[in-house]
Amino acid sequence: MSSTKPSKHFTVTIIGGGIGGLVLAVGLLRRKVPVYIYEAAPAFAEIGLGLSVGPAAHRAMPLIDPQIREIYDSLVTTHADSPGYEQFRQTWVEIIWACGTREGETLMNLKALPSGQTTLHRADFLGALVNLIPPDIVQFGKRLDSLEQTTEGLTLRFNDGMTALADVVVGCDGIRSKVKESMLPEESKNKQPHYSGMYGYRAVLDMEEVVEAVGERRARVSTLYVGKGAYCISYPIMRAKKVNVGLYILSKKWAYETWVRPATREEMRRDTRNMGRHVNALIERMPDPSQWAIFEHPHISTYSQSRVAILGDAAHASTPHQGAGAGQAIEDAHVLAELLGDTRVTKPKDVMAAFRAYDQIRRPRSQKVVTSSKESAYLLCLCLDGVGDDEEKLKETWNQRLRWLWDLDIEEQAEEARKKMVEYMGV
Ligand SMILES: Cc1cc2nc3c(=O)[nH]c(=O)nc-3n(C[C@H](O)[C@H](O)[C@H](O)COP(=O)(O)OP(=O)(O)OC[C@H]3O[C@@H](n4cnc5c(N)ncnc54)[C@H](O)[C@@H]3O)c2cc1C
Repeated sequence: MSSTKPSKHFTVTIIGGGIGGLVLAVGLLRRKVPVYIYEAAPAFAEIGLGLSVGPAAHRAMPLIDPQIREIYDSLVTTHADSPGYEQFRQTWVEIIWACGTREGETLMNLKALPSGQTTLHRADFLGALVNLIPPDIVQFGKRLDSLEQTTEGLTLRFNDGMTALADVVVGCDGIRSKVKESMLPEESKNKQPHYSGMYGYRAVLDMEEVVEAVGERRARVSTLYVGKGAYCISYPIMRAKKVNVGLYILSKKWAYETWVRPATREEMRRDTRNMGRHVNALIERMPDPSQWAIFEHPHISTYSQSRVAILGDAAHASTPHQGAGAGQAIEDAHVLAELLGDTRVTKPKDVMAAFRAYDQIRRPRSQKVVTSSKESAYLLCLCLDGVGDDEEKLKETWNQRLRWLWDLDIEEQAEEARKKMVEYMGV
């Protein structure tokens, strides 16, 4: 890392500076890989909602760059931020029956060792990551329209008419990725992101309001309220001053053009009429009854082609029911940073081998997360085939799914990818 001669004869152009793009950029810069970022927005920005990152992605952070984990841990809220709740430090979430004869009773206390539930305010995380990116490697207001691969490299076309050349590109441009569309034009036509069969309501509320609505324990400990056809999640953020609340409703149809539509409080009440007293008390305090359609990405055949790769939601946008989308982007970034930082990767041709290996290792896992996340919605709405509202089966299935997601050996994953890359490089 201390060599003065540049060892990389390529620059990685990143399209999109969301969590995935920025984490990748930080990991590459730490490994002295030249990076350039184009971001469509006028500044790096995130919507001001909560984000919960699981143990595997949490373990990946210091391996990408210790500063990412330091930032994350400095911003994160855990149950121990509420005095008197230290014994919930390793709890991921308490799952509660929202309604029925056991309304309000605990179905299970799900632990996530060793980190427990860690949540933050998205905008805070992104805002701090930005400080690790030198301003001169970013151009804002640059929305990619398309890219074209030539034998020499890549030509990027932006919607303001600008063109630019690139050696290699990683598309981190989210669920409606233009990089993906250019990389897989035919497949993209048939595999557009689609409505997942659920819409949601979201809010960030003051802790005091939530305590008033559902009591201290439910407000301060991350809670999943499971009901028939709907579920609600709440977790404290911002050192337990605020609570992120999400309410998700199974509904086959989404008949609207936009992904977010203004709804009425009456519709919200109708959607939650069978969800019990806790959820009903919460929705009365949610200021905005807008409905958010939950979209997901159909599986695609590859995450890379030649000099182009895609990462995060551009490759595998998932429903939020396992709180794993950003975590998967972080796992992607870890593998890519390790491969591109490898001393044997010096030329664009080597990057092509790295991209191929990245696809081989990351695609099966992240696509399984997309599938499992969708099924988790049915699990939490007490209608997963073979499970329904059977208490023991619910516990067993939920545990199995999260163990698989969380217990990954992150370093082993990167090593597997490295072995494949070396094989593809033929060295
Ligand atoms: C309701 C909900 C709750 C969620 N909760 C969680 C959670 O608790 N935990 C979790 O891990 N995940 C969660 N997720 C998923 C998580 O938000 C995403 O997986 C994550 O934000 C993806 O990051 P990204 O960087 O890949 O994409 P994005 O965050 O979408 O970033 C894409 C970036 O690219 C830019 N861009 C887009 N198009 C272009 C273009 N053409 N040219 C240039 N730039 C472009 C955008 O402006 C943006 O900055 C949730 C998702 C939803 C919908």
